[in-house]
Amino acid sequence: MSEGAAVVGRLRAAYESGITKPYAWRVAQLRALRRMLDEEEDAFEAALLADLGKHPVESVVTEIGLVRLEIDHVLKHLRGWLRPRRVPVPAIALPATARTMYEPLGVALVIAPWNYPVLLSLSPAIGALAAGNALVLKPSELAPATSALLAELLPARLDRRAVAVVEGGVPQTTDLLEQRFDTIFYTGNGRVGRIVAAAAAKQLTPVTLELGGKSPVYVDGTGDLRAAAERIVWGKFLNAGQTCVAPDYLLATADVAARLVPLLREAVLARYGEHPESNPDYARIPDERRFDRLLPLLADGDAAVGGTADRGRLHVAPTVLTGVARDAPIMQEEIFGPILPLIEVTGLDDAIRFVNAGDKPLALYVFSTDRAVRRAWLTRTSSGAVGFDAPNVHLSVPGLPFGGVGGSGTGAYHGERSLRVFSHEKAVFAKPLAPDTLALFRPPYTERVEAIVRRIFR
Ligand code: NAD
Repeated sequence: MSEGAAVVGRLRAAYESGITKPYAWRVAQLRALRRMLDEEEDAFEAALLADLGKHPVESVVTEIGLVRLEIDHVLKHLRGWLRPRRVPVPAIALPATARTMYEPLGVALVIAPWNYPVLLSLSPAIGALAAGNALVLKPSELAPATSALLAELLPARLDRRAVAVVEGGVPQTTDLLEQRFDTIFYTGNGRVGRIVAAAAAKQLTPVTLELGGKSPVYVDGTGDLRAAAERIVWGKFLNAGQTCVAPDYLLATADVAARLVPLLREAVLARYGEHPESNPDYARIPDERRFDRLLPLLADGDAAVGGTADRGRLHVAPTVLTGVARDAPIMQEEIFGPILPLIEVTGLDDAIRFVNAGDKPLALYVFSTDRAVRRAWLTRTSSGAVGFDAPNVHLSVPGLPFGGVGGSGTGAYHGERSLRVFSHEKAVFAKPLAPDTLALFRPPYTERVEAIVRRIFR
């Protein structure tokens, strides 16, 4: 029996025994998760530093802190969310009551990527546990220190009968995908997303796909450009550009570009200095394969900022490229690295047409004080999210759905939606045996029955 089969078999038995369903069990798991983060914060920061060169402050802001906020939000609201909800009953079915209730799906598989290996492992895990599922977590092999830490701590801190971590790469994930799960939650790239969806389809397992894509930033020059440049630089070069919702490329007219580029240069210098390769505030690329993918992209334009790279240090400088052709290789796929190409457009319509010609992005950012411009982007494009004047931060709002559309993903989570993603919303209907109103619809279909039916369903 494979490792995957053994783990899933064990967890399924635990789920079927009913231990994961009580509210108290769910809360205990979430509290244990919170305690783990509090007591092992140093270990998580060290793992993120080892895996990605992430500065501890960045690890708190973008990973550990966000998981804490999510746990606290869920703990505060879970009881209310789980309350059955009455729904109105139409006259033809009266007298009766109708309500919905969330039930767990069963055994959930969460497959996480390497770029935010704590956040993107634990944030879905919160939803799975809050919904009362057994959970198999498969962290990314490209963040090995974090993966090992999760594999050590989760079974020790949570109920190991119902929570397991399977480490490994493609063979282990492939083995897991051959097992029957009740839901699969995958975060990563679209190529593997298709593999996951195909495997899930064989078992009719529902999937949530949190993918990436090319998230554009449009700057129309109406607002404070210096402030915009600072935010774009922060959003893009955080984690060395390896953020699913990071600005992928810039869209601006030649006029605006001429004013914006010097401000981007100043902002990069102010944040990362003359030597970003040795700046501890700046993250690195996880491995040579990903470095080698990024390197040729540096040649797709003129480096107005940065443009250098060092394979030995797995370092790519924060880079802004101008003079980039619309069909350049860098514009074909999500960049997922610290290179920001600027595409010149003739104006709003040209920019919108350009975005609409590609896959639907995970996020779309607009820097503009012009309400008509904002409305045009909202109503004439489709994306997982829209951010006005601020990249990335929308994902910290638990009430907002976090997810993509089309090529950037299927399904959304965070807050109550995390509970929904890992639950089945069951319809519950109850009708007293008397009075026997259903008699109205029963054969024989006499003229009287027909007259009543025709009147009611008019
Ligand atoms: P990755 O390479 O770590 O892959 C993610 C997971 O898929 C890993 O657990 C890995 O073991 C598994 N995997 C890899 N190849 C596989 C295969 N052939 N078969 C089965 N499983 C396999 O991460 P990545 O894909 O490089 O992550 C980056 C991508 O993820 C980017 O496109 C980014 O935009 C996207 N992303 C999206 C979100 C989001 O929330 N929407 C968040 C972060 C990253």
